[in-house]
Amino acid sequence: MVELPDKQAAFMEWYLAVVEEAHLTDKRYPVKGANVWTPYGLKARLQLDAVLIREIEATGSEAAEFPALIPATEFSKEKEHIKGFDAQVYWVTKGGVADLDVPLVLRPTSETAIYPVFALWVRSHRDLPLNIYQIVNTFRYETKTTRPFLRVREIHFFEEHTCQADEAAATERVRSNRAAFAKMARAFALPYLAIRRPDWDKFPGAFYSIALDIPIGGARTLQIGSIHHYRENFSRPYGIRYETVDGEQRYAHQTTFGLSERLLGAIVAVHGDAKGVVFPSAIAPFQVVVIPIPASDAGDAPLAVSTDVADRLRRRGLRVRLDAGEERPGSKYYRWELAGVPLRLEVGAREAKQRSVTTADRLGRKGTVPLDRLETEVERLLAEYDDALRARAQAEFSAAFSVARSLEELPGSTTVRLIAWCGNEECGHRIETAIDGSLLGTPEDPLPFLTEPIGGCIACGEKSTARWAVAARPL
Ligand code: ZN
Repeated sequence: MVELPDKQAAFMEWYLAVVEEAHLTDKRYPVKGANVWTPYGLKARLQLDAVLIREIEATGSEAAEFPALIPATEFSKEKEHIKGFDAQVYWVTKGGVADLDVPLVLRPTSETAIYPVFALWVRSHRDLPLNIYQIVNTFRYETKTTRPFLRVREIHFFEEHTCQADEAAATERVRSNRAAFAKMARAFALPYLAIRRPDWDKFPGAFYSIALDIPIGGARTLQIGSIHHYRENFSRPYGIRYETVDGEQRYAHQTTFGLSERLLGAIVAVHGDAKGVVFPSAIAPFQVVVIPIPASDAGDAPLAVSTDVADRLRRRGLRVRLDAGEERPGSKYYRWELAGVPLRLEVGAREAKQRSVTTADRLGRKGTVPLDRLETEVERLLAEYDDALRARAQAEFSAAFSVARSLEELPGSTTVRLIAWCGNEECGHRIETAIDGSLLGTPEDPLPFLTEPIGGCIACGEKSTARWAVAARPL
């Protein structure tokens, strides 16, 4: 058995150890930041992707896939975009032994791969809205320390790209994306803030950016996704135009919505504890593990009942693992707790005789379920487990924020800070210097746990334009 580092005292050491010990990834691949998806980690990721696919398709988005290689000529069409990504791009400059006439970029994000084709697809108002998403690998030459799932160079990436008739329709698409993410986050039991980034920190080329941020490891934050309104910033250079009902030519207004494997890292980081990973049931590779407990006087009964229990739950559509190996039950409990399985069912001599199973969920709650009500009771226990996980995460989320009333209160903070900000960029930079981090921007929704009245901007004192903003040191 491995002793995990303390989550509160040494968050990142704890995180790295949990990811390693639970076999979610193998980071020994000889390219830094390009990790191997292990069978167990991939199972979790596929469940996570299934939630993203279900919720985005419910909003009328369709899957497509665009090539990974982007000609330099297309990549450089939008000036802010190329400036923002230049330092992170992998270049392909040779085909075999010959230098390529036009070098190719390995996509860091896919605007410049998709939009030349959108220009061909969008001709008439009848082609709109065009809502397309893809789940692909993207590549960024990350110079900071890489961390499994949180900061990698080969990224498992979800990206939606849309074309809308006008600015209002694009704003509506942003709203629809936010609603879809709220449902995804509920499945992952992840509380988050939707924060409008300040202008100097928006996505390169965007009109505005809304980031989806969570507090992580105390005073830090992690951006787990983003939604952008592009207006006509990309449709103009890429020529994405359509004919209106009246025969006019207009540029489309565009939006994007991006998520990545960071979501998996966030789930591990937020829910995990001293025993290891804690998966919400929506993405747990196995939602239930069934463990027969051999006894000398019970013969085959524990294994026979366990097999039957596993079969019945699988027929119900649950992801179940029957662990009938040679290991002692205590070692199995330890291993499956480390792996984050939501619900453990134990079948020993007593249970076999009484036609019941003993239950233990990953939050430590125990009980007994009669076999004649097995399916409905297991489903009820999983739903209660998810509710409890959500409540625990919400309580920790609320406790991760505190109000700061002056710049002097910002350094060395052990929480994410809420501050009054006038919206002025110069004040914003003074706040960033004071916290040695970022002014993440202004939350899109009221914070239910924030009841204090707002004061003047903590940098300049201005009252009339002050809004709540979030300042932190992003991970
Ligand atoms: Zn100010």
